[in-house]
Amino acid sequence: MQKISVLLPTPFSICTYFSQEKLKPGTFVLAPFGRKTLVGVVWNTPIDHSFPENKIKSILKVLDIPLFSQVNQDFVNWVAAYTLSEPGMVLKMALPISEVEKKSRKPVVFDLPDLAPSQLTFSESQKQAISFLTQQSGFHVTLLDGVTGSGKTEVYFEAIAKALEQNHQVLVLLPEITLTSAWLERFEKRFHVKPACWHSGLTPKMRRDTWNAILSGNARVIVGARSALFLPYPDLGLIVVDEEHDASYKQEDGVIYQARDMAVVRAHLGNFPIILASATPSLETFCNVLDKRYQCVQLPERFAHAALPELHIVDMRSKEKRKGYLSEPLVKEIANALSQHNQTLLFLNRRGYAPMMLCKACGEKIKCPHCSVLLTEHRHQKIMQCHHCGYTIPLPKTCPACGEKDCFVSCGPGVERIEEEVCELFPQARVQVITSDTISTPLQFETLIQKLLHKEIDILIGTQMLAKGHHFPDLTVVGIIDADFGLAGGDLRAAERTFQLLQQVSGRAGRAQKKGKTYLQTYSPENAVIKALISGDKSAFMNAEISARKLLEMPPFGRLVSIIISGKNENTTRKIAQNLIQKAPFLSGVEFLGPVQAPLYQLRGKYRYRILIKSRKNIPLQKIIRNWLYPIHIPSSINLKIDVDPYSFL
Ligand code: ADP
Ligand code: ZN
Repeated sequence: MQKISVLLPTPFSICTYFSQEKLKPGTFVLAPFGRKTLVGVVWNTPIDHSFPENKIKSILKVLDIPLFSQVNQDFVNWVAAYTLSEPGMVLKMALPISEVEKKSRKPVVFDLPDLAPSQLTFSESQKQAISFLTQQSGFHVTLLDGVTGSGKTEVYFEAIAKALEQNHQVLVLLPEITLTSAWLERFEKRFHVKPACWHSGLTPKMRRDTWNAILSGNARVIVGARSALFLPYPDLGLIVVDEEHDASYKQEDGVIYQARDMAVVRAHLGNFPIILASATPSLETFCNVLDKRYQCVQLPERFAHAALPELHIVDMRSKEKRKGYLSEPLVKEIANALSQHNQTLLFLNRRGYAPMMLCKACGEKIKCPHCSVLLTEHRHQKIMQCHHCGYTIPLPKTCPACGEKDCFVSCGPGVERIEEEVCELFPQARVQVITSDTISTPLQFETLIQKLLHKEIDILIGTQMLAKGHHFPDLTVVGIIDADFGLAGGDLRAAERTFQLLQQVSGRAGRAQKKGKTYLQTYSPENAVIKALISGDKSAFMNAEISARKLLEMPPFGRLVSIIISGKNENTTRKIAQNLIQKAPFLSGVEFLGPVQAPLYQLRGKYRYRILIKSRKNIPLQKIIRNWLYPIHIPSSINLKIDVDPYSFL
């Protein structure tokens, strides 16, 4: 009998077991854990000899599948150390299936991609980009920067072909909602096979089959949402992160990580190239290019010179232009588009009918009893709802504060209210609203795209789900109802995100031969973001944003870690938070700020305090935090959420 260390997909992580034979690190085993049987991986950590021998159990079985490779093991350890998570919880992301062993009677087969050269005639700049990307070997990060429609996808397909020729596996990460049949068809057109897909909609059988095909090397190209990064690739040789700026790459629950950043780490550990593609690169990536850590290839013009949309700013402070929520010039343009059988997209990133209901008599606003937010009116469903916890009540008839009847007025627009206005103005138009209330699965999304393409919709009103990569040849008008929304948000990346979003939404218009027009409604036309949009000068905006962050030593020029301490009991939560800060070390270059009540002080009935740790760039912050927190006892009624490189400041 031998003692071995096994990493289990649990918060308890590494456990000691007996085994009949000596097993290599990376071997998958079945092990008893409490009353359950878990799949674990033999781990290269020293045996814990202090553990009483009579309590050590034997593993149940050695699984007859390939090893979890050394690079994958290193990656799990690296991510755990960086995000201050348990390695077991990171392993859980690599092992998101319950029955590894069960063999499907009819397993899915992933055919080999056809590597015959592309049928396209590439433009000069496309050719240059392709030759740059295909000449790389070893670790390289390249930003593939080009406006929507410039051919980024076709270009990175050639880099994929090259990696496949060299017998490597390839991973393409996409924001989940863009993993649509449009992308898959493009892929199939180039490679004459379907790639393996990894997303939340897979059936358990599909999940298991795909996981096995990846581990055994039978799946050569894997396209998936951020979680696909952790799958057990035996010989990954290229990663593409498409829409690299997209906020959905940041996972906010469980192991909190930024998938784009971790993908760069994965490529570094595996010593292979990685491509970050975007029409609106993140500021972090932009800075890495400036510092020459990343390289950059640009695709300047749109393929075949399709026209970029014309941008019009509507100053909503002018009363003549403002009729309802839609301005006069925008309404005219929609009418124009309708008469020519073209389509319109109206963009507003706010679900429901109105973000607030106010009592005319006493000024009472209806709040969520569990969260520090107002309830949103959803008029179609006749309810008010909390967008954080889902708490729902019927529309109130009387004011709970003053008892007045029928006294509530709706304040501000949501998509439903825009829909109402549009239907009054254009009763003959076919109008469709798209938000996470109406569209929640890739299939529903797909159906909607088809309806748009077949011109069964004249006017589409939607939230941010729409902002991403599709070609709608007859979409000629884009109206951004409220370009100021998001500018006031007070978080680090608010301006950057607004800039990206607005650029992308307006990029929906005129992607084909028809010239598109974008109308941007704003109350602050002098704002830097709006000005940068008008000028179309991406680097002017970036440079202004960089100076601002440099001055404050904010990321990427300094480091942040956020800690949220939450619990049901307000007093205990506050005390624990204060106790933590009292024990914080004094170190030069590191500031421990707080505790303060988080902006969302109450969430799902829990009180939340936050501590923000801010440091200079080259300080080993994770080690400092580990040394500080690990000796402190935290009662089980209190939850500690550690977020390294936070994106959310709620
Ligand atoms: P991006 O990823 O930058 O948005 P795409 O790669 O999707 O751009 O290209 C936009 C459209 O132009 C696609 O339909 C694509 O197939 C087409 N396209 C790009 N490059 C060429 C080319 N060299 N020849 C023919 N069509 C091309
Ligand atoms: Zn709530």
